[in-house]
Amino acid sequence: MCAKKIESLDINCDTLLQGNKDWVKEVLEADPGFFEKLSAGQTPPVLWIGCSDSRVPANQITNTMPGDIFVHRNISNIVVHTDMNMLSVLDYSVNVLKVKHVIVCGHYGCGGVKAALENKPVGIIDNWLRNIKDVYRTHIREMETIKDPEQKFDRLVELNAINGASNVSNTSIVQNAWASGQELSVHAWVYSLKTGLIKDLKFTGSSLDDVSDVFKLT
Ligand code: ZN
Repeated sequence: MCAKKIESLDINCDTLLQGNKDWVKEVLEADPGFFEKLSAGQTPPVLWIGCSDSRVPANQITNTMPGDIFVHRNISNIVVHTDMNMLSVLDYSVNVLKVKHVIVCGHYGCGGVKAALENKPVGIIDNWLRNIKDVYRTHIREMETIKDPEQKFDRLVELNAINGASNVSNTSIVQNAWASGQELSVHAWVYSLKTGLIKDLKFTGSSLDDVSDVFKLT
């Protein structure tokens, strides 16, 4: 993956297209058959569900290349069981690509989570961020014991990622995969903008035993 060469403020469509040409040149120098191989098909072992934030690109922060990770991103990496976009990505990943891992990765300093912690209307996105307020409500006892605003913010970021992973596990798609014996693990991670490091939040769903009774479909 190319290192950044120009400042964000100087980026425009011309610099992006030139950047693409430079990147292709670098990739081909390292591996002349790279694009030919990739164009034959994809077999990524991982589905990444992350935030749209420009500072959290799945491939760069995991030191991977095109073809390695199937990606779904939205504001604040929210997983809602009625989101047809997310469900379509998950269904294709699990049933066609046969990914082995689904990772929901949040990040500290997430603007969406911060907005959800406040009571100021932002616009139509308030209805999307409402899902994070529901996470707060579900964990209200723990959240209300945290007095430090930064710690509260960080913890809600973590709980939102864990809740997302839990929601992935509860979908009919993942439950059916587990019921048929498919190897599939669901994880919750959080990324630090300050250090560049990812922390495993130790949520792992890998079988129907990890699904709460009320959500079980089999
Ligand atoms: Zn974010």
